[in-house]
Amino acid sequence: MDRYSTAVDAALDLRPDQPIYCFRPSVLRQDAQNFQSLFPGKTAYAVKTNGEPFVLNALSDAGIDCFDVASPAEFAAVRAAAPEAELLYMHPIKAQSDIRLALEGYCIRTLSLDHEDEVAKILRIVRGLDIDPQKITLYVRIATKGHAAYELSKKFGAAPGHAVELLKRIDRIGFKCGLCFHVGSQIEEPETYERALASADWIRSRANVPNVGLDIGGGFPAVYGNDPRKKAREMPSLEELMGQLNNDIVEWQFGGVPLVAEPGRVIVARSISLIVRVLLRKGRRLYINDGIWASLSDSWTGKITLPARFIPDPARRTRSGRADKIVPYKVCGATCDSVDILSRPFWLPETVDTGDWIEIGHIGAYSLSLRTKFNGFYPDKVIEVSEPFDAGEAPEGFASIETMAD
Ligand SMILES: *Cc1c(COP(=O)(O)O)cnc(C)c1O
Repeated sequence: MDRYSTAVDAALDLRPDQPIYCFRPSVLRQDAQNFQSLFPGKTAYAVKTNGEPFVLNALSDAGIDCFDVASPAEFAAVRAAAPEAELLYMHPIKAQSDIRLALEGYCIRTLSLDHEDEVAKILRIVRGLDIDPQKITLYVRIATKGHAAYELSKKFGAAPGHAVELLKRIDRIGFKCGLCFHVGSQIEEPETYERALASADWIRSRANVPNVGLDIGGGFPAVYGNDPRKKAREMPSLEELMGQLNNDIVEWQFGGVPLVAEPGRVIVARSISLIVRVLLRKGRRLYINDGIWASLSDSWTGKITLPARFIPDPARRTRSGRADKIVPYKVCGATCDSVDILSRPFWLPETVDTGDWIEIGHIGAYSLSLRTKFNGFYPDKVIEVSEPFDAGEAPEGFASIETMAD
């Protein structure tokens, strides 16, 4: 990987016409270790957020030794980067062949489910492989309520009464029992975890089976930008959120239970930025060389305002507009279809023009993992950058960050 101190240096040196991911291993390390130090249980990184080998290697170097995986490709990616790491197979609805591979090929002993037919599937394979069910922990995924940029309880999770039945059933068979939830990604209400803990407590007391663990999933919010026209949403910092969570864990008497969290976004978002080029400017529209089918689908579906930094092309001699006036641009992506338009504008100086670059910050989560080859565009170049995206003086055009909102 080429190395630069900032993405601006890289853009000016490489004059890239294709998108470039700027990876900051030191930021990833810091955010991973910060989460581990704040969370009182085991940190299992959610591989779907970003499963690139360079990310998994850096996380393993940072001391992450447990990973939340959902598919054979994710088992293999983690095994390659961190051969000793523990794998938690937390997809509630799995293919039989994948369950077999997990148990037999990868010695995975922790799985989740939200239905009795999944218990039956797992049990058949466990019996076939002659594994003692006592060696396996099955986490019952419970449905939760709350507001997140992505809600997942519409898809997975057992209602409380059903979860009680499932716990009793798996205990009767001889499996170890756990409870898990995933409140959705990028939570928007600090009380979300507490509501889920209250529900888990209710289920635990009704089921009355030995509980070997509580897995609180992911959802911890990463820091993004704000639309200067809108009042910034009040979300506590991760430190505050974790302080509250730790209190809630004690209050709901999960303090003595082994805990697991499956953070994704909050660990990896800040570590990668993306340099894109303005292929053409038409008024207040920018056509760029990336888009929703490549790195930017999250900002589209997740309604997230991404922080953007202007990198003017020094080769351009004339510009119109004022450099100190920050305005919203509608951003159109690289492919030939009308869906590829971002729903949130980029806030940039009036002087942006064809040939300039934009550094999009905090894009490490759900970007590389969601790329498609649609229309033949597939960004794949990665460089290493040492300075954090928001380090140093706030450069011109560094719009849509918190300071712009006042
Ligand atoms: C996607 C996912 C995560 C990670 O969520 P983030 O919001 O990125 O932290 C964790 N657990 C499960 C079960 C998931 O599906």
